[in-house]
Order: sequence, then structure tokens, then C-alpha cells
Amino acid sequence: MSSPLTGTVAIVTGASSGIGEATAVRLAEHGASVAVVARRKDRLDALVAEIEAAGGTALAVEADITDRNQAEQAVAAVIDRFGRLDILINNAGLMLLGTVLDQDVDEWERMIAVNQKALLYMTNAALPHLLTAAEDDLRKVADIINISSIAGRQAWPKFGVYNMTKFAVNGFTEALRQEVTQKHVRVGVLEPGAVATELVSHNNQTVKDELAASDAKNIPERLQPEDIAESIAYMVTRHRRSSIAELWAMPTSQA
Ligand code: NDP
Repeated sequence: MSSPLTGTVAIVTGASSGIGEATAVRLAEHGASVAVVARRKDRLDALVAEIEAAGGTALAVEADITDRNQAEQAVAAVIDRFGRLDILINNAGLMLLGTVLDQDVDEWERMIAVNQKALLYMTNAALPHLLTAAEDDLRKVADIINISSIAGRQAWPKFGVYNMTKFAVNGFTEALRQEVTQKHVRVGVLEPGAVATELVSHNNQTVKDELAASDAKNIPERLQPEDIAESIAYMVTRHRRSSIAELWAMPTSQA
């Protein structure tokens, strides 16, 4: 039986853990061949094995996509292997918290590099292929989903630069949507609330302790990565006349 994404090719960035990993599994279940992109090759290889054991098709692409050349090579590797590209999920990201006064400026640079620049490099390299896919008879549509955050809608102390990167993703997404939607490349932004992943783990111990205490009180039950994967799958499996431009996906327990 044909699945909604049979014959399509998807790239998921940041697929070595969390939301990206779950999304790659879900899109493969829907029939897409999935290229999984990140730096931790061992994790990608394990994910490819998992997808293929379940009958899917996947390709591990080791890349630091904050490097423009590596981002472009990642897209080129996917075209080499599969010959087309239908879906780009810009998911790779980093959240490092601290006050504007005290946070290490290197942490700002690292967030801007992955949350903004890598997303731009991947989009730029992928867009010509997505425009081509949108013209052929398979689905007559292609997709870019940018993973922003509730932090792309709401700002809080200590989230300043992370907020900045995610507000930027929202603005860029809507501008690009208006540029290409009438060519049937759908461009949407997905803004998750708190999801149980490794995202917080990259912070220093003080920030981690503060977040754990705050979350225990304010977000007793986080979303699971599979919940976001399901939302992404929903966005990319709509009829071609239907474009989900924005989806804000929250844990029920997060006010
Ligand atoms: P994880 O830390 O589990 O995943 C982040 C992914 O990004 C990893 O696969 C990591 O892979 C990849 N990545 C980081 N830097 C690079 C790089 N330079 N090149 C390639 N890949 C990179 O966190 P999440 O799954 O939670 O995060 C996914 C997205 O969801 C992010 O954009 C995040 O901002 C967003 N988000 C998450 C929320 C949450 O509560 N968890 C809430 C709202 C939004 P590797 O280290 O192997 O390179």
C-alpha cells in the first residue's frame, strides 16, 4: 500500500537526537527516504540501521552545518544518492541560557551559527531542488519546515539570544513562504513548547539546576519528541492546496 510520502526524499537536520531523530523515524514510516544530518556519526548510523530494520530507507550525512561548505555538501550528497529532494526539516539547534551581562559571548556565536546561519545555508542549498520537486508529478508540492520555539513568540530573562535566534527564524520563514508558496514550495514554522530532549543538557550546571526547579513547578509534563514528529508529519502530508504556515505545539501542562 502506498504511504503519503512514498517516493519522496527528506532531509532532517539535527537528527542524531531528540526531535530530529523522532522526525526521521516518522517520515520514514510515511514512506520518505530520509537523509539524517548531524555531527555525531555513530548516532546517525544507529538511526539509519533502526529505520532500515523497519523497512525504510535512510542515509547518514555527517556534517557541521554551521560550515557553509559542509551544509552545501550535505545537500549535494543527498541529491547524489537519491536524485531529488522534496522535504527539508531545519531542526538542528542549540539553547544556551544566561543574562546578557554575564553570558559568554562565544555561546551567543554558537547559537547564531546553528539556529540561524545553518538554517540559511541548508535552505539556500536545498531550495532549487525543492522548486524542481514541486513541479514534477509525484506530489506537485515540496516542503520546508523550520523548527522555531515558543521562544520565537515569547521572551524571558536569560533567553535573550536564544529568543533572538528563534524570533529571527519566524520572520525569515514567513518572508520565504511568501516568495515561494505560489510555486508550491510550502514553508512553515513549528514552535514547540518544552520537549524532553538533550537541549537543556548543553548548559552549565547552574542553568540546568534553575531550569529543573522551574520546570518541576511550571511544566510537570513535557512533550515527547514523537509528539513534535507527529506535528511535522501532519504539516508535510496535507493536500497540496493546504499549507500550514505556523503551528504552535505546547505541552498541556505548560501555561
Ligand atoms: P537536541 O539537543 O536533542 O538536538 C539538537 C540537534 O541539533 C542534535 O541532533 C545535534 O546533533 C544537532 N546539531 C547541533 N549543532 C549542529 C551542527 N553544528 N551541525 C549539525 N547538527 C547540529 O535538542 P532538540 O531535539 O530539543 O532540538 C531540536 C530543535 O527543537 C532545536 O532547534 C531547538 O531549538 C528546538 N526546540 C526544542 C525545544 C525543547 O524543549 N527541547 C522546544 C522548542 C524548540 P550533533 O550534536 O550530533 O551535531
